[in-house]
Amino acid sequence: MGDRKRVIILGSGPAGLTAAIYTARAGLHPLVIEGSAPGGQLMLTTMVENFPGFPEGIMGPDLMSAMRQQAERVGAEFVTEDAVSVDLTRRPFTVTVQSGERYEADALIIATGASAKMLGLPSEQALLGHGVSTCATCDGFFFKNKRVVVVGGGDSAMEEALFLAELASSVTVIHRRDQLRASKILQDRAMAHPKISFIWNSVVEEILDPEAKRVQAVRIRNVVDGTVTTYPTDGVFIAIGHVPNTQIFRGQLELDEKGYIVLRERTMTSVPGVFAAGDVHDHVYRQAVTAAGFGCMAAIDCERWLKTQG
Ligand code: NAP
Repeated sequence: MGDRKRVIILGSGPAGLTAAIYTARAGLHPLVIEGSAPGGQLMLTTMVENFPGFPEGIMGPDLMSAMRQQAERVGAEFVTEDAVSVDLTRRPFTVTVQSGERYEADALIIATGASAKMLGLPSEQALLGHGVSTCATCDGFFFKNKRVVVVGGGDSAMEEALFLAELASSVTVIHRRDQLRASKILQDRAMAHPKISFIWNSVVEEILDPEAKRVQAVRIRNVVDGTVTTYPTDGVFIAIGHVPNTQIFRGQLELDEKGYIVLRERTMTSVPGVFAAGDVHDHVYRQAVTAAGFGCMAAIDCERWLKTQG
């Protein structure tokens, strides 16, 4: 068992690291359980052009590395493991990590973010990184002059399609309905692009060929007439939304129907002393800068709450 901490922060994206900087500067000596793949979703992006303060843009991983250095410099400590369970039923709260080590704290800030939603096909798992991707900006380069499909009909799918259209020879959007959910401006742009085409009312049933360890085609079912066709492609980009990383809090914290943490009073969750920041509770803004803002708010709320506890 590690020493009892004043505050443990779970997660190391912009929300977690900003909370670390603020709680460290408030003298709370935070422990950041940063996960086995630290840095959050910005680690999967290339150029970030909308984070204030970087007129030329900054690479996502560089921004996260700078935030981590800043948190470390002001005194945050890090454990590079995944939290596998928590006990929020009594104080001090306990957090157990992969290796079995347990940590105790008077307060927790949860900043575990969200992950890309997957279709749930075994072939998709088998081919992830071998032609199946959830991030065009990360992997689009590998599909230069190749054919790709994008699954989804929201803003993310349109953004992925438009990004890929600059590289790939063709982009086919496969959507389960006959209307896009995406905002009009992105719809118009995608529909007007000469390299982007659409397959409507269709779901991907299988990605072929997991045995060959590369993507060669998708098997598609038309949900209106039931016809099944095979559509050749070199890559599949899944862009069907995100799911919050709240599995380990289920049954202990109030979550909404999609699994996002529900906030009660400012950034405090349904358990006093447990705070949440970033994409783990916010499915509306989902930006690095708003996540960082929430991290700051949670740190200040946490510090004030700890003072009331003596
Ligand atoms: P989203 O708006 O939830 O859209 C998800 C899309 O995937 C929907 O079209 C949905 O179909 C489809 N889908 C969901 N589950 C599926 C499944 N199992 N199989 C097949 N299709 C499935 O998610 P998002 O596009 O990631 O956007 C999330 C939020 O971020 C939105 O508020 C969006 O506006 C925002 N965002 C904004 C921008 C921008 O403004 N530049 C960029 C990216 C994201 P249905 O339509 O049938 O439900």
